[in-house]
Amino acid sequence: MSKPTKQQSLLDKITAACKRRGFIFPSSEIYGGINGFWDFGPAGAQLKRNIRDYWWDTLVRNGHKGPDGEKFDIVGLDASIIMSNKVWEASGHTTSFSDPMVDCRKCKQRFRADLLPDTKCPEGGDHDYTEVRDFNLMFKTNVGPVEDGSSIAYLRPETAQAIFVQYQNVLTVTRTKVPFGIAQIGKAFRNEINPRNFIFRSREFEQMEMEFFIKPGTEDVWHHWWLEKRLNWYVQMGIVRDNLSVEWHPQDKLAHYAKSCVDIMFDFPFGVQELEGIAFRTDYDLRQHAEHSKKISLYFDTETNERYHPYVIEPSAGLDRTVLAILCDAYREEILTDSKGNQDVRTVFRFHPRIAPVTVAVFPLLRNRPELVDKAERVFGLLQPHFRVQWDDRGNIGKRYRYQDELGTPYCVTIDFDTIGAGEHPEQKETVTVRDRDTMEQIRCPIDELVGYLKERVLF
Ligand code: ATP
Repeated sequence: MSKPTKQQSLLDKITAACKRRGFIFPSSEIYGGINGFWDFGPAGAQLKRNIRDYWWDTLVRNGHKGPDGEKFDIVGLDASIIMSNKVWEASGHTTSFSDPMVDCRKCKQRFRADLLPDTKCPEGGDHDYTEVRDFNLMFKTNVGPVEDGSSIAYLRPETAQAIFVQYQNVLTVTRTKVPFGIAQIGKAFRNEINPRNFIFRSREFEQMEMEFFIKPGTEDVWHHWWLEKRLNWYVQMGIVRDNLSVEWHPQDKLAHYAKSCVDIMFDFPFGVQELEGIAFRTDYDLRQHAEHSKKISLYFDTETNERYHPYVIEPSAGLDRTVLAILCDAYREEILTDSKGNQDVRTVFRFHPRIAPVTVAVFPLLRNRPELVDKAERVFGLLQPHFRVQWDDRGNIGKRYRYQDELGTPYCVTIDFDTIGAGEHPEQKETVTVRDRDTMEQIRCPIDELVGYLKERVLF
């Protein structure tokens, strides 16, 4: 094994913090794990849900305004994971959804031919690779009680196909007009040859995909417009713009369905890698499904009296990869020096409050003083309808701050003796301490202004 680089060790540190604070655990860990599968713990499940909801809430709505100010709608879909095999035959996945693969004749390991490792063969010297072969990434299963060839089905390798398959139904029920979008979030499965880099490349993951149907000829404008929109979406979740970049695919590297494609890239600790692909899929999928099913008719454009299959721009994002990008972007190790000159390292996830798993933590100064606990419970009750609130009464306040820093909680509220009018500052009765995660500054805030104070800062 080669020595881990500084950047790999950063990923190791993030992985360790994720385990420590309950963001992400290896799947089936107590049985030794299973390569390429991960579980999201309490903090991770919430973080993931917040990102998922933010995608859905910002996209699935009426009355978007396009590049020329024209109005359009995006509607939602939640389709089944297993579909008829005919879907995958028509879409070309049964024959073309593969990665190039090689084996090492010495150590018998398999690798993706376009992502070969820079490590030596464990059997000594360089790996001795076989010829490149295609490996289909779709997971197979059987539907029904008979396990013969006729019952084989696939776990979907992308969520997009169901959108094309239900296109006609959605169009009929919504009576929407081109341009419009159909969006879906859901699990996808790929039997990746080498899952790696924590949750970056796994075998089960979630996609957030939208098929945006447009009039042929308008694709260039929409492609660039969606690229800008999608870049902004990541920035609005707090990702630093400089960590994002854009890469247009060369023509010879395009997927079988795409005419052009641009990737939004993120600067991960292991290199700049794809976060989201925005493909121009032409009318390829609708044409294929129209031909194979004979059930999809040409769209009738009432403005121009033309009939056509709309073209498609597809922003396709990975939810798990977005979670990883956010974790990497937000992770900080800060050296703190106290008044005596002692140094300590503070680990913090600087999540945007919009997506932080916990927005506010509430601490009674002491857990064994009913008058403090009582008051803290009332403050907790006041905040809970508005924010994601966590109660914490363990250990000293400094330790609780550190715990919440590592969870990425933007604000902590402490109820102390002054709050109940039994401290040294009688004028501070009915006020609490609010501590800011990023500046670590503490201010006193009257309880009846607390909701407003926090709302102003967390910008929901
Ligand atoms: P790659 O080249 O990394 O294999 P891809 O170009 O095949 O990815 P797409 O088919 O465009 O990926 O999928 C859209 C998005 O789904 C990707 O941008 C990524 O965020 C996510 N995604 C794809 N494969 C995986 C995976 N194995 N694990 C996690 N997320 C994935």
